[in-house]
Amino acid sequence: MTTTQPDPSSQAQKNVQPKGNPAHMRVVIVTGDRTAYDGQAEAVVAPATNGQIGIRPLHAPLLAGLEPGELLVRANGEEQVFAVSGGFIEVRDNQVIILADTVERAEEIDVARAEAARRRARMLVERYRDRPEAIAARQALDRSRARLRVAQRARRPSR
Ligand code: ATP
Repeated sequence: MTTTQPDPSSQAQKNVQPKGNPAHMRVVIVTGDRTAYDGQAEAVVAPATNGQIGIRPLHAPLLAGLEPGELLVRANGEEQVFAVSGGFIEVRDNQVIILADTVERAEEIDVARAEAARRRARMLVERYRDRPEAIAARQALDRSRARLRVAQRARRPSR
């Protein structure tokens, strides 16, 4: 996992919420039709297109694309897990904004639906192989796998 360190010379560092708690940052997770999370957090781990990134308070400005995967938000010592299907993450001024194509909390995931989507996508990947239609099928497969991973993780007993 790549964990980028705060940049002490950045504007973010200088302008960060003077009244806020420096152990926290604001995290907002939105899609086109809802806000899935808006609150303070101690850490975020997101599935960026270049690999997982870890964000802590006072992080340097960042803009990255997201791929299907697990999104973790740690707030008050508790981890909240979401499945995202893609989108963007922006970090600036001690805020993390996640604009997600779709996002589900682990407990919102309909496992039977994700399994059906995975079966369908596998069949289409197999059917289309090197044809252009296989691209969408592979993306659907990645989304279903991310949902199933997140759902499974949430159902595991805590360590
Ligand atoms: P499906 O074929 O089952 O619709 P999909 O990957 O094509 O899966 P999306 O287009 O990514 O679905 O999502 C459409 C909407 O349905 C979004 O609001 C997303 O959050 C929701 N969604 C998709 N799959 C699930 C699931 N397994 N459980 C809960 N919500 C889901």
